[in-house]
Amino acid sequence: MQVKAAVFYRPHEPLAVQELELEGPRAGEVLVRIAACGVCHSDLHFIDGLVPIASPSVLGHEAAGVVEAVGAGVASVQPGDHVVLSFIPSCGRCQYCVVGRPNLCTIGNRAMSRGTMLDGTPRFAREGRPVYQMGSIGGFASYTVVPEAGCVKIREDMPLDRAALLGCGVMTGVGAVINTARVQAGSDVAVVGCGGVGLNVVQGAALAGAGRIIAIDVLAHKLELARQFGATHTVDASREDPVEAVRRISPGGVDYAFEVIGRPETVRQAFDMARRGGLTVVVGVPPAGAEVSLPAGAFLTEKTITGSAYGGARMPVDVPRLVELYMSGRLKLDELISRVYPLEGINDAFDALRRGEVARSIVTPL
Ligand SMILES: [Zn+2]
Ligand SMILES: [Zn+2]
Repeated sequence: MQVKAAVFYRPHEPLAVQELELEGPRAGEVLVRIAACGVCHSDLHFIDGLVPIASPSVLGHEAAGVVEAVGAGVASVQPGDHVVLSFIPSCGRCQYCVVGRPNLCTIGNRAMSRGTMLDGTPRFAREGRPVYQMGSIGGFASYTVVPEAGCVKIREDMPLDRAALLGCGVMTGVGAVINTARVQAGSDVAVVGCGGVGLNVVQGAALAGAGRIIAIDVLAHKLELARQFGATHTVDASREDPVEAVRRISPGGVDYAFEVIGRPETVRQAFDMARRGGLTVVVGVPPAGAEVSLPAGAFLTEKTITGSAYGGARMPVDVPRLVELYMSGRLKLDELISRVYPLEGINDAFDALRRGEVARSIVTPL
């Protein structure tokens, strides 16, 4: 079938909105009509040339939609089902899946980084040449085909534009708090960077019952948003030293420090904000080749540092939980959506993201 999609060809160029051929779902695959796809910093990293990606690619990996057709053997969804898409289609059988860490799945991560289905090929093409699918999704398109393992069925009264945000930003942020750090009630938390994911770290900390939640950014309107999402304190890092400020607010440092930007300097800041025995969680995506230096003496105080990939997601469990939290009024999603763009406006959406104007924009392709 013919579909409309936003295609990445090379860094520092606008995405091209054009018609592509979409092959129907093969065995174990699902055709999805995209209702909405969030505009995420990871997409921007490719456009800005910070992280390499297969070219050409349909970007977009934070999407939800409706199942239109299924390939042979698909059992978990059927036409008409509403689904959130996962950019790590976990196989369920590799060593990581078996031990309960499906976000590290060997096969799902390989497909994600190649931008293909599990068999190593994409379903989009233009003039007979393959067009890859970011995160095995390619959500900036009117329709896409994804692996069955990349679909999570949700209840039908959940608004699909809100549900889309669960596919990356919300899962990554809330999951880093609940799954990766397992923040304890009453503990102190610092969050460095209050973009779409950082705000979800803030609200994850609030959901976990953290005591002080200190949000750090250089933009006043993001700090204001962080307050709405549950921050008890804010620090404007353009005006004062954020490490000193955090250690003043939470004497000795915080129990958990989250870095949600992906820069070596801010990883170091987050590490220095954590107290003795404290945990630093790096959520931000660093540019390719970046290295971080840390004071080795700090390890004598049992400080630890870890990464968090996709918020430690176990999508079939976590997505329905997040849906229930939203439907019962305890998870903020409406407040995250700053703007809605048609597919043709996608480059404007990325410009707004680059300028720091939005928490999240969503694209509605049809
Ligand atoms: Zn993302
Ligand atoms: Zn696996």
